[in-house]
Amino acid sequence: MLLQTTGDLVDTAARLSTEKLAPAAPAIDATASFPRDNLDALSKEGLLGLVVPTEFGGLDASSKVLVGTVVEIAAGCASTAMILVMHCCGVIAIRDHMKGPGRAEILTKAASGQHLSTLAFSERGTGANFGATFTMSEQDGTGYKLNGEKCFVTSGGQADSYVISARAPGATEVTASTIFIISKDNAGIAFHGTWDGVGLRGNSSVGMKLSDCTVDGAAALSPPGEGLMLAMSTVLPLFLLGSASVYHGIALAAFEACCNHIKSRTYTHNSEALSNLPHVRRSIAEMKVKLDSSRAMLERAAEARDAGAADAALQLMEAKFKATETANEIAKEAMHVCGGIAYTGSLPIERHMRDALAGTVMAPTSDMLLDLIGSAILAPAK
Ligand SMILES: Cc1cc2nc3c(=O)[nH]c(=O)nc-3n(C[C@H](O)[C@H](O)[C@H](O)COP(=O)(O)OP(=O)(O)OC[C@H]3O[C@@H](n4cnc5c(N)ncnc54)[C@H](O)[C@@H]3O)c2cc1C
Repeated sequence: MLLQTTGDLVDTAARLSTEKLAPAAPAIDATASFPRDNLDALSKEGLLGLVVPTEFGGLDASSKVLVGTVVEIAAGCASTAMILVMHCCGVIAIRDHMKGPGRAEILTKAASGQHLSTLAFSERGTGANFGATFTMSEQDGTGYKLNGEKCFVTSGGQADSYVISARAPGATEVTASTIFIISKDNAGIAFHGTWDGVGLRGNSSVGMKLSDCTVDGAAALSPPGEGLMLAMSTVLPLFLLGSASVYHGIALAAFEACCNHIKSRTYTHNSEALSNLPHVRRSIAEMKVKLDSSRAMLERAAEARDAGAADAALQLMEAKFKATETANEIAKEAMHVCGGIAYTGSLPIERHMRDALAGTVMAPTSDMLLDLIGSAILAPAK
Protein backbone atom coordinates (compact mmCIF):
# COMPACT_ATOMS: atom_id res chain seq x y z
CA MET A 1 0.00 0.00 0.00
CA LEU A 2 1.74 3.16 -1.20
CA LEU A 3 1.97 6.18 1.06
CA GLN A 4 -0.12 8.69 -0.89
CA THR A 5 -0.37 11.76 1.31
CA THR A 6 2.45 14.17 0.84
CA GLY A 7 1.71 16.38 3.87
CA ASP A 8 3.68 15.14 6.87
CA LEU A 9 6.66 13.70 5.04
CA VAL A 10 7.16 16.73 2.83
CA ASP A 11 6.79 19.03 5.86
CA THR A 12 9.44 16.99 7.67
CA ALA A 13 11.77 17.16 4.68
CA ALA A 14 11.18 20.92 4.37
CA ARG A 15 11.96 21.46 8.06
CA LEU A 16 15.14 19.37 7.86
CA SER A 17 16.12 21.20 4.71
CA THR A 18 15.82 24.63 6.32
CA GLU A 19 17.20 23.79 9.75
CA LYS A 20 19.95 21.31 8.91
CA LEU A 21 20.72 20.77 5.22
CA ALA A 22 20.84 24.33 3.87
CA PRO A 23 23.12 25.64 6.66
CA ALA A 24 25.53 22.72 6.10
CA ALA A 25 25.56 22.93 2.29
CA PRO A 26 28.24 25.64 1.81
CA ALA A 27 30.82 23.69 3.86
CA ILE A 28 30.00 20.40 2.11
CA ASP A 29 30.46 22.18 -1.20
CA ALA A 30 33.68 23.92 -0.16
CA THR A 31 35.33 20.79 1.23
CA ALA A 32 33.70 18.20 -1.11
CA SER A 33 32.91 16.14 1.99
CA PHE A 34 30.41 13.31 2.13
CA PRO A 35 27.32 14.57 4.03
CA ARG A 36 27.18 11.81 6.66
CA ASP A 37 25.52 14.08 9.26
CA ASN A 38 22.79 15.00 6.80
CA LEU A 39 22.14 11.34 6.01
CA ASP A 40 21.95 10.59 9.74
CA ALA A 41 19.37 13.35 10.06
CA LEU A 42 17.35 11.86 7.16
CA SER A 43 17.66 8.41 8.74
CA LYS A 44 16.17 9.61 12.02
CA GLU A 45 13.06 10.59 10.09
CA GLY A 46 12.97 7.26 8.25
CA LEU A 47 13.73 8.91 4.92
CA LEU A 48 16.24 6.27 3.80
CA GLY A 49 13.20 3.98 3.78
CA LEU A 50 11.32 6.00 1.14
CA VAL A 51 10.92 3.03 -1.23
CA VAL A 52 11.06 0.29 1.41
CA PRO A 53 7.75 -1.59 1.96
CA THR A 54 5.98 -0.89 5.26
CA GLU A 55 6.35 -4.54 6.33
CA PHE A 56 10.08 -3.83 6.75
CA GLY A 57 9.46 -0.52 8.54
CA GLY A 58 9.72 1.60 5.40
CA LEU A 59 7.55 4.42 4.07
CA ASP A 60 6.55 2.83 0.74
CA ALA A 61 6.17 6.31 -0.70
CA SER A 62 4.18 6.92 -3.87
CA SER A 63 5.97 8.69 -6.71
CA LYS A 64 4.19 11.92 -5.80
CA VAL A 65 5.35 11.73 -2.18
CA LEU A 66 8.87 10.88 -3.30
CA VAL A 67 8.93 13.93 -5.59
CA GLY A 68 7.72 16.29 -2.85
CA THR A 69 10.25 14.92 -0.35
CA VAL A 70 13.29 14.87 -2.65
CA VAL A 71 12.54 18.38 -3.96
CA GLU A 72 12.62 19.76 -0.41
CA ILE A 73 15.85 17.94 0.45
CA ALA A 74 17.52 19.09 -2.78
CA ALA A 75 16.56 22.69 -2.10
CA GLY A 76 18.65 22.42 1.07
CA CYS A 77 21.55 20.27 -0.16
CA ALA A 78 21.62 18.87 -3.68
CA SER A 79 24.45 16.43 -2.89
CA THR A 80 22.46 14.88 -0.05
CA ALA A 81 19.40 14.60 -2.29
CA MET A 82 21.34 12.91 -5.11
CA ILE A 83 22.87 10.42 -2.66
CA LEU A 84 19.34 9.68 -1.43
CA VAL A 85 18.07 9.17 -4.99
CA MET A 86 20.93 6.77 -5.86
CA HIS A 87 20.22 4.94 -2.59
CA CYS A 88 16.54 4.58 -3.51
CA CYS A 89 17.56 3.26 -6.96
CA GLY A 90 19.74 0.60 -5.34
CA VAL A 91 17.06 -0.27 -2.80
CA ILE A 92 14.30 -0.65 -5.40
CA ALA A 93 16.44 -3.16 -7.33
CA ILE A 94 16.99 -5.12 -4.10
CA ARG A 95 13.32 -4.80 -3.11
CA ASP A 96 11.94 -6.05 -6.42
CA HIS A 97 14.56 -8.59 -7.47
CA MET A 98 16.62 -9.97 -4.58
CA LYS A 99 15.89 -13.51 -3.43
CA GLY A 100 16.86 -15.07 -0.11
CA PRO A 101 17.11 -13.87 3.49
CA GLY A 102 19.56 -11.06 2.71
CA ARG A 103 16.71 -9.07 1.16
CA ALA A 104 14.71 -8.67 4.40
CA GLU A 105 17.84 -7.77 6.33
CA ILE A 106 18.89 -5.04 3.88
CA LEU A 107 15.38 -3.58 3.57
CA THR A 108 14.92 -3.51 7.35
CA LYS A 109 18.28 -1.82 7.80
CA ALA A 110 17.59 0.67 4.99
CA ALA A 111 14.28 1.62 6.61
CA SER A 112 16.01 2.35 9.90
CA GLY A 113 18.83 4.23 8.22
CA GLN A 114 21.52 1.62 8.84
CA HIS A 115 22.06 0.67 5.22
CA LEU A 116 23.00 2.98 2.35
CA SER A 117 22.91 1.63 -1.20
CA THR A 118 23.84 3.05 -4.60
CA LEU A 119 24.30 2.24 -8.29
CA ALA A 120 27.58 1.40 -10.03
CA PHE A 121 26.75 1.13 -13.74
CA SER A 122 29.05 3.66 -15.44
CA GLU A 123 32.42 2.75 -16.89
CA ARG A 124 35.12 4.91 -18.37
CA GLY A 125 35.09 3.17 -21.75
CA THR A 126 31.33 3.28 -22.33
CA GLY A 127 30.64 6.64 -20.64
CA ALA A 128 27.00 7.70 -20.56
CA ASN A 129 25.99 4.54 -22.48
CA PHE A 130 25.37 2.68 -19.23
CA GLY A 131 23.70 -0.32 -20.88
CA ALA A 132 27.04 -1.57 -22.18
CA THR A 133 29.50 -3.13 -19.76
CA PHE A 134 33.04 -4.46 -19.83
CA THR A 135 32.94 -5.53 -16.20
CA MET A 136 32.94 -9.31 -16.49
CA SER A 137 31.24 -11.99 -14.43
CA GLU A 138 32.11 -15.67 -14.56
CA GLN A 139 30.52 -18.64 -12.89
CA ASP A 140 32.34 -19.64 -9.68
CA GLY A 141 30.70 -22.74 -8.22
CA THR A 142 27.14 -21.69 -7.36
CA GLY A 143 28.22 -18.05 -7.27
CA TYR A 144 30.08 -15.59 -9.48
CA LYS A 145 33.47 -13.95 -9.76
CA LEU A 146 33.53 -10.31 -10.93
CA ASN A 147 36.33 -8.31 -12.49
CA GLY A 148 36.28 -4.80 -13.91
CA GLU A 149 36.16 -1.14 -13.18
CA LYS A 150 33.33 1.33 -12.57
CA CYS A 151 33.52 5.12 -12.48
CA PHE A 152 31.45 7.95 -11.00
CA VAL A 153 30.05 5.68 -8.27
CA THR A 154 28.01 8.04 -6.07
CA SER A 155 28.61 7.24 -2.37
CA GLY A 156 31.65 5.22 -3.50
CA GLY A 157 33.51 3.95 -0.43
CA GLN A 158 30.64 5.18 1.78
CA ALA A 159 27.71 2.94 0.86
CA ASP A 160 26.94 -0.44 2.40
CA SER A 161 25.88 -2.05 -0.88
CA TYR A 162 26.50 -1.46 -4.57
CA VAL A 163 24.05 -2.49 -7.27
CA ILE A 164 26.27 -3.07 -10.28
CA SER A 165 26.10 -4.27 -13.86
CA ALA A 166 28.49 -6.88 -15.26
CA ARG A 167 28.62 -8.89 -18.47
CA ALA A 168 26.84 -12.24 -18.06
CA PRO A 169 29.13 -15.31 -17.93
CA GLY A 170 30.34 -16.20 -21.42
CA ALA A 171 28.39 -13.35 -23.12
CA THR A 172 30.02 -11.50 -26.00
CA GLU A 173 27.27 -8.91 -26.56
CA VAL A 174 28.22 -5.76 -24.54
CA THR A 175 24.67 -5.21 -23.30
CA ALA A 176 24.16 -8.82 -22.17
CA SER A 177 24.57 -7.93 -18.52
CA THR A 178 23.54 -9.27 -15.14
CA ILE A 179 22.76 -6.96 -12.23
CA PHE A 180 24.47 -7.92 -8.96
CA ILE A 181 24.41 -6.62 -5.42
CA ILE A 182 27.78 -6.41 -3.74
CA SER A 183 28.33 -5.69 -0.07
CA LYS A 184 30.99 -3.22 1.05
CA ASP A 185 32.44 -6.15 3.03
CA ASN A 186 33.06 -8.29 -0.07
CA ALA A 187 36.74 -9.00 -0.68
CA GLY A 188 38.05 -7.70 -4.00
CA ILE A 189 36.50 -4.20 -4.02
CA ALA A 190 38.66 -1.10 -3.94
CA PHE A 191 37.78 2.56 -4.43
CA HIS A 192 40.08 5.07 -6.02
CA GLY A 193 40.24 8.76 -6.78
CA THR A 194 38.77 11.74 -4.98
CA TRP A 195 35.56 13.36 -6.06
CA ASP A 196 36.28 16.92 -7.15
CA GLY A 197 33.35 17.69 -9.46
CA VAL A 198 32.18 21.15 -10.46
CA GLY A 199 28.97 20.58 -8.51
CA LEU A 200 27.25 17.97 -6.32
CA ARG A 201 30.53 18.09 -4.46
CA GLY A 202 29.37 15.99 -1.51
CA ASN A 203 28.61 12.99 -3.72
CA SER A 204 31.83 10.98 -3.40
CA SER A 205 31.34 9.82 -7.01
CA VAL A 206 34.60 7.90 -7.25
CA GLY A 207 36.06 4.93 -9.13
CA MET A 208 35.54 1.32 -8.05
CA LYS A 209 37.69 -1.66 -9.01
CA LEU A 210 36.53 -5.27 -8.75
CA SER A 211 39.37 -7.80 -8.62
CA ASP A 212 38.24 -11.42 -8.38
CA CYS A 213 35.31 -10.23 -6.28
CA THR A 214 33.32 -13.38 -5.47
CA VAL A 215 29.64 -13.30 -4.61
CA ASP A 216 27.10 -16.04 -3.97
CA GLY A 217 24.29 -16.91 -6.35
CA ALA A 218 21.76 -14.77 -4.43
CA ALA A 219 23.79 -11.67 -5.34
CA ALA A 220 22.52 -11.91 -8.93
CA LEU A 221 19.39 -9.75 -8.99
CA SER A 222 18.58 -10.49 -12.62
CA PRO A 223 18.78 -13.68 -14.65
CA PRO A 224 22.09 -13.88 -16.55
CA GLY A 225 22.06 -11.54 -19.56
CA GLU A 226 18.84 -9.77 -18.49
CA GLY A 227 20.38 -7.01 -16.43
CA LEU A 228 19.59 -4.24 -18.90
CA MET A 229 15.91 -5.19 -18.77
CA LEU A 230 15.99 -4.86 -14.96
CA ALA A 231 17.82 -1.55 -15.18
CA MET A 232 15.36 -0.12 -17.70
CA SER A 233 12.18 -1.37 -16.07
CA THR A 234 12.93 -1.03 -12.34
CA VAL A 235 15.82 1.39 -11.83
CA LEU A 236 15.57 3.88 -14.68
CA PRO A 237 12.01 5.15 -14.02
CA LEU A 238 12.89 5.87 -10.38
CA PHE A 239 16.20 7.46 -11.35
CA LEU A 240 14.47 9.75 -13.85
CA LEU A 241 11.84 10.76 -11.31
CA GLY A 242 14.29 11.18 -8.44
CA SER A 243 16.91 13.10 -10.37
CA ALA A 244 14.24 15.35 -11.93
CA SER A 245 13.16 16.10 -8.35
CA VAL A 246 16.74 16.95 -7.37
CA TYR A 247 17.07 19.44 -10.25
CA HIS A 248 13.68 20.93 -9.50
CA GLY A 249 14.79 21.45 -5.88
CA ILE A 250 17.97 23.15 -7.10
CA ALA A 251 15.88 25.44 -9.35
CA LEU A 252 13.57 26.34 -6.45
CA ALA A 253 16.53 27.17 -4.21
CA ALA A 254 18.16 29.34 -6.88
CA PHE A 255 14.87 31.16 -7.45
CA GLU A 256 14.32 31.77 -3.75
CA ALA A 257 17.88 33.04 -3.22
CA CYS A 258 17.43 35.32 -6.22
CA CYS A 259 14.13 36.78 -4.97
CA ASN A 260 15.55 37.28 -1.47
CA HIS A 261 18.52 39.20 -2.80
CA ILE A 262 16.47 41.35 -5.15
CA LYS A 263 14.00 42.22 -2.39
CA SER A 264 16.80 43.24 -0.04
CA ARG A 265 18.87 45.36 -2.47
CA THR A 266 18.35 49.11 -2.48
CA TYR A 267 20.79 51.57 -4.08
CA THR A 268 22.30 54.28 -1.88
CA HIS A 269 22.57 56.96 -4.58
CA ASN A 270 18.84 57.16 -5.38
CA SER A 271 17.15 54.84 -2.81
CA GLU A 272 15.74 52.77 -5.66
CA ALA A 273 15.07 49.09 -5.02
CA LEU A 274 16.46 46.51 -7.45
CA SER A 275 12.95 45.06 -7.52
CA ASN A 276 11.70 48.28 -9.14
CA LEU A 277 13.58 47.65 -12.38
CA PRO A 278 11.09 46.40 -14.99
CA HIS A 279 13.49 43.91 -16.57
CA VAL A 280 14.10 42.36 -13.14
CA ARG A 281 10.39 41.90 -12.51
CA ARG A 282 9.98 40.41 -15.97
CA SER A 283 12.89 38.07 -15.35
CA ILE A 284 11.43 36.87 -12.04
CA ALA A 285 8.07 36.30 -13.71
CA GLU A 286 9.67 34.25 -16.49
CA MET A 287 11.54 32.14 -13.94
CA LYS A 288 8.32 31.49 -12.01
CA VAL A 289 6.48 30.38 -15.15
CA LYS A 290 9.35 28.00 -16.01
CA LEU A 291 9.40 26.61 -12.48
CA ASP A 292 5.67 26.01 -12.44
CA SER A 293 5.63 24.33 -15.83
CA SER A 294 8.56 22.09 -14.84
CA ARG A 295 6.79 21.18 -11.57
CA ALA A 296 3.58 20.39 -13.42
CA MET A 297 5.45 18.01 -15.75
CA LEU A 298 7.14 16.38 -12.78
CA GLU A 299 3.87 15.83 -10.92
CA ARG A 300 2.21 14.53 -14.08
CA ALA A 301 5.06 12.07 -14.65
CA ALA A 302 4.82 10.93 -11.02
CA GLU A 303 1.11 10.28 -11.40
CA ALA A 304 1.71 8.42 -14.67
CA ARG A 305 4.33 6.19 -12.98
CA ASP A 306 2.02 5.40 -10.06
CA ALA A 307 -0.86 4.65 -12.42
CA GLY A 308 1.33 2.46 -14.65
CA ALA A 309 0.31 4.62 -17.62
CA ALA A 310 1.44 3.45 -21.06
CA ASP A 311 3.32 6.71 -21.67
CA ALA A 312 4.89 6.90 -18.19
CA ALA A 313 8.42 6.29 -19.51
CA LEU A 314 8.05 9.11 -22.04
CA GLN A 315 6.71 11.48 -19.39
CA LEU A 316 9.54 10.63 -16.99
CA MET A 317 12.16 11.31 -19.66
CA GLU A 318 10.50 14.63 -20.51
CA ALA A 319 10.30 15.56 -16.82
CA LYS A 320 14.01 14.88 -16.22
CA PHE A 321 15.00 16.84 -19.32
CA LYS A 322 12.73 19.75 -18.39
CA ALA A 323 13.79 19.86 -14.73
CA THR A 324 17.47 19.84 -15.71
CA GLU A 325 17.06 22.57 -18.32
CA THR A 326 14.94 24.67 -15.96
CA ALA A 327 17.48 24.42 -13.15
CA ASN A 328 20.26 25.50 -15.50
CA GLU A 329 18.23 28.35 -17.00
CA ILE A 330 17.03 29.66 -13.64
CA ALA A 331 20.44 29.49 -11.96
CA LYS A 332 22.02 31.31 -14.91
CA GLU A 333 19.33 33.99 -15.04
CA ALA A 334 19.49 34.41 -11.25
CA MET A 335 23.24 35.04 -11.60
CA HIS A 336 22.45 37.70 -14.18
CA VAL A 337 19.75 39.62 -12.32
CA CYS A 338 21.58 39.45 -8.98
CA GLY A 339 24.71 40.93 -10.53
CA GLY A 340 28.29 40.93 -9.31
CA ILE A 341 27.32 40.07 -5.74
CA ALA A 342 26.05 36.69 -6.99
CA TYR A 343 29.22 36.26 -9.04
CA THR A 344 31.41 36.63 -5.96
CA GLY A 345 29.84 33.58 -4.40
CA SER A 346 28.44 35.42 -1.40
CA LEU A 347 24.99 34.20 -2.49
CA PRO A 348 24.32 30.44 -2.88
CA ILE A 349 23.27 30.94 -6.51
CA GLU A 350 26.66 30.05 -8.00
CA ARG A 351 26.57 26.72 -6.09
CA HIS A 352 23.09 26.01 -7.42
CA MET A 353 24.37 26.78 -10.93
CA ARG A 354 27.26 24.31 -10.54
CA ASP A 355 24.98 21.65 -9.01
CA ALA A 356 22.49 22.04 -11.88
CA LEU A 357 25.16 21.30 -14.49
CA ALA A 358 25.35 17.65 -13.41
CA GLY A 359 21.84 17.07 -14.73
CA THR A 360 22.84 17.46 -18.35
CA VAL A 361 25.68 14.91 -18.15
CA MET A 362 24.29 12.25 -15.80
CA ALA A 363 22.99 9.39 -17.90
CA PRO A 364 20.56 9.37 -19.51
CA THR A 365 22.04 12.76 -20.45
CA SER A 366 19.98 15.59 -21.91
CA ASP A 367 21.29 14.67 -25.39
CA MET A 368 20.26 11.05 -24.93
CA LEU A 369 16.84 11.97 -23.55
CA LEU A 370 16.04 14.19 -26.52
CA ASP A 371 17.11 11.42 -28.88
CA LEU A 372 15.00 8.86 -27.01
CA ILE A 373 11.96 11.15 -26.82
CA GLY A 374 12.26 12.02 -30.52
CA SER A 375 12.68 8.37 -31.46
CA ALA A 376 9.61 7.37 -29.43
CA ILE A 377 7.49 10.04 -31.13
CA LEU A 378 8.69 9.14 -34.61
CA ALA A 379 8.53 5.36 -34.16
CA PRO A 380 6.30 3.73 -36.81
CA ALA A 381 2.82 2.90 -35.49
CA LYS A 382 2.45 -0.78 -34.49
C1 LIG B 1 27.70 13.99 -10.29
C2 LIG B 1 27.66 12.69 -11.01
C3 LIG B 1 27.22 11.56 -10.34
C4 LIG B 1 27.18 10.32 -10.98
N1 LIG B 1 26.76 9.22 -10.28
C5 LIG B 1 26.74 8.01 -10.88
C6 LIG B 1 26.39 6.83 -10.15
O1 LIG B 1 26.07 6.88 -8.95
N2 LIG B 1 26.42 5.64 -10.79
C7 LIG B 1 26.75 5.53 -12.09
O2 LIG B 1 26.73 4.42 -12.62
N3 LIG B 1 27.10 6.62 -12.82
C8 LIG B 1 27.11 7.86 -12.24
N4 LIG B 1 27.50 8.96 -12.96
C9 LIG B 1 27.97 8.79 -14.34
C10 LIG B 1 27.03 9.37 -15.41
O3 LIG B 1 25.79 8.74 -15.40
C11 LIG B 1 27.68 9.23 -16.79
O4 LIG B 1 27.99 7.90 -17.04
C12 LIG B 1 28.94 10.04 -16.92
O5 LIG B 1 28.68 11.36 -16.56
C13 LIG B 1 29.47 9.95 -18.35
O6 LIG B 1 30.60 10.79 -18.47
P1 LIG B 1 31.53 10.71 -19.79
O7 LIG B 1 32.50 11.82 -19.70
O8 LIG B 1 32.04 9.34 -19.97
O9 LIG B 1 30.48 11.08 -20.92
P2 LIG B 1 30.45 10.64 -22.43
O10 LIG B 1 29.73 9.35 -22.58
O11 LIG B 1 31.81 10.73 -23.03
O12 LIG B 1 29.51 11.76 -23.06
C14 LIG B 1 30.00 12.99 -23.60
C15 LIG B 1 28.86 13.72 -24.25
O13 LIG B 1 28.37 12.93 -25.33
C16 LIG B 1 26.97 12.72 -25.22
N5 LIG B 1 26.66 11.33 -25.57
C17 LIG B 1 27.39 10.22 -25.28
N6 LIG B 1 26.75 9.11 -25.74
C18 LIG B 1 25.62 9.55 -26.33
C19 LIG B 1 24.55 8.89 -27.00
N7 LIG B 1 24.51 7.57 -27.15
N8 LIG B 1 23.54 9.67 -27.48
C20 LIG B 1 23.56 11.01 -27.33
N9 LIG B 1 24.56 11.68 -26.71
C21 LIG B 1 25.57 10.97 -26.21
C22 LIG B 1 26.62 13.00 -23.77
O14 LIG B 1 25.33 13.58 -23.69
C23 LIG B 1 27.68 13.96 -23.31
O15 LIG B 1 27.25 15.29 -23.45
C24 LIG B 1 27.57 10.22 -12.34
C25 LIG B 1 28.00 11.36 -13.02
C26 LIG B 1 28.07 12.58 -12.38
C27 LIG B 1 28.54 13.78 -13.14
